[in-house]
Amino acid sequence: MVDARLNPETAVQFVKGVGPRRAEHLEKAGIFTVADLLQHYPRRYLDRQRVKKIRQLQAGDDTTVVGKVLACGIERGRRSRFVVHLDDGSGSLLQCIWFQGVAYLDKSFKTGQLVAFSGKITQYRGRQMVHPEYDRLGDDDSDTVHTRGIIPMYPSTETLSRAGLDSRGFRRLLHYCVNHLEADISDYMPDELLKKNKLCTLTESLRQIHFPESWDALEAARDRLKFDEIFAMQLALAVQRVSLARPETGYTFDNRGDNVKILLQSLAFDLTGAQNRVIGEIEADLVSGRPMNRLIQGDVGSGKTLVAIIAMLKAVENGFQAAMMAPTEILAEQHYLTLKDWLEPMGIKVVLLRGNQRVAVRRPILAAILSGEAQIAIGTHALVQEGVDFFKLGLIVVDEQHRFGVMQRAALRDKGKRPHVLVMTATPIPRTLALTLYGDLDVSVIDELPKGRQPIRTAWRKEDARSAIYDFIRDEVNAGRQAYIVYPLVEESEKIDLADATAGYELLSKTTFKDFKLGLLHGRMKAEEKEAIMHSFKAGEIKILVSTTVIEVGVDVANASVMLIEHSERFGLPQLHQLRGRVGRGIHRSTCILLSIESVTDHAFKRLNTMVRTCDGFEIAEADLEIRGAGELLGTRQSGTLPFILADLTTDIAIIEKARRSAYLLVENDPNLIKPEHAELAQRLRKKYSNKIGLLAVG
Ligand code: ADP
Ligand code: MG
Repeated sequence: MVDARLNPETAVQFVKGVGPRRAEHLEKAGIFTVADLLQHYPRRYLDRQRVKKIRQLQAGDDTTVVGKVLACGIERGRRSRFVVHLDDGSGSLLQCIWFQGVAYLDKSFKTGQLVAFSGKITQYRGRQMVHPEYDRLGDDDSDTVHTRGIIPMYPSTETLSRAGLDSRGFRRLLHYCVNHLEADISDYMPDELLKKNKLCTLTESLRQIHFPESWDALEAARDRLKFDEIFAMQLALAVQRVSLARPETGYTFDNRGDNVKILLQSLAFDLTGAQNRVIGEIEADLVSGRPMNRLIQGDVGSGKTLVAIIAMLKAVENGFQAAMMAPTEILAEQHYLTLKDWLEPMGIKVVLLRGNQRVAVRRPILAAILSGEAQIAIGTHALVQEGVDFFKLGLIVVDEQHRFGVMQRAALRDKGKRPHVLVMTATPIPRTLALTLYGDLDVSVIDELPKGRQPIRTAWRKEDARSAIYDFIRDEVNAGRQAYIVYPLVEESEKIDLADATAGYELLSKTTFKDFKLGLLHGRMKAEEKEAIMHSFKAGEIKILVSTTVIEVGVDVANASVMLIEHSERFGLPQLHQLRGRVGRGIHRSTCILLSIESVTDHAFKRLNTMVRTCDGFEIAEADLEIRGAGELLGTRQSGTLPFILADLTTDIAIIEKARRSAYLLVENDPNLIKPEHAELAQRLRKKYSNKIGLLAVG
């Protein structure tokens, strides 16, 4: 065949212009097939029809200029730099200046070359652009690939550029690809779905995203491709959810004992409206006849534990066991103490399963779980390990979900036949992310704090304020309050940080705070030691608790009113928010002091300012999303659970909602994706998600 047609599976080396050498480079960049290449989307576009003339440019304009290189080279001065003098025939010249990559640039440009530059105009001895984006257009102005209409600019790397795959090189390849694609590469999206969502076809969208005929066509193309990305994920979640929930009947907890009433009467406070509402939602799930699969989102201190306890009581009253999984030993222990306190008087047996218990201690606990004598089991990951078998597990509570993956949730679920699952998180997840990530869960929100809580005053201070801070802590302790001093612990294994907390503890207990009882808490202590320290702090004996971030999650001591965070510039926003949530849990006015080094990075600056500005977890989560971007926020950039190239979870909310609705509707009508019009979609989904999300029992 003279002019072979390409299809998406064609290996990239069969694209004209790709030899074995370039193929190798492309493969290293993750581009193996035509489909991969087609997903190498332009980073930006240049509108050749709306290019401005240098003469008309004013300082502050953000624009594109096309002209010939009149002269270029390295200019030495206080800082050496690479300068291109550009002439577009308008009678004025433009200087394009770089301070970085000078040697490489010097090799890249030649006099007489036709180049497009994009960037912001500054005025300094003439018109300038500093570090503009550029695109060499080639001398041949009749080369329409590069010069007509809206021109795509492709991302590349220095290595790829050296192999001829700079923006221009990619443009050639993609131009060939798009023009030699099989006339109608089959569209995996069902027609009906495209029509309903007013989406253009796959072929059309690929054509238009690379070589748009108009800005409108480009937007339509991008919308379609973003939709695909999000839809695929939503569909995977929907299928997973249906396959978990639909064929199963869940336990029905319709027995009502008196335990809940007794518990509520014994408390010194009333439930908040939000707690009541969420408990109602849970109760409805528990009698629905289907396994509950619910996420409770509630800001730090909103009283999620109590809600979970009530759900667990329901399980117990119906003759089932409940398990509660916490992300840290300290938190598991704390839950254990609370539950023992509240539930044992009712004759309910609660056990704690630790990761590193001695066999002699562990054996009777395991036996009690297996025999059903233990009605409630609390633990960390230890709960999902081999050898932990339940008598009749009816409800699983997972506290602080953000630390657990979908897989661990699934592992715990496997311990019961079809237990109800309740997941709690204090990390308020922006709505878009919640929809995207927890498409498989129903969501309840506790959006109200218990009465009488006061906002925590937050201050950002530097080293020069240290002695004033210590004075303040002393005053608070003298007034009967308690304090936390927290040191960063980036990784449990980082000895240096541990040393910080230990050294801080030793120094302070000998000097500044020698009159007070101090305690030290870190992740490497034995469980019993930790428990003893926490106990003593809770009892008010230890006045100042020096600790690493092990206290980050869940620790609840209402009398603590001050928190000093050392090296706060090293913490992420959610972590700071979590830490701060350890104070302000009682009736006392609380303060959080963020101590930092003198000059912090831009990101740290934004984080610390956000903390000072607001105590609202949702606002903080939004700010975090903005600062870090979605992939990083979820810690999934590497693991690739968010395989979005185009879609942006912060801005594409409308598309997310559309895609989600469509995905759920489709699965409702065809739960196993077996209809012929869904075959391709199912296949694609399996390829993309089966090993990532797991549990994906398609077809
Ligand atoms: P979180 O949602 O952060 O897990 P907790 O469940 O630890 O919060 O609750 C924080 C504190 O508030 C606990 O001491 C808890 O006993 C208390 N609490 C829970 N509900 C209420 C309420 N309705 N009124 C007052 N205090 C409450
Ligand atoms: Mg909690």
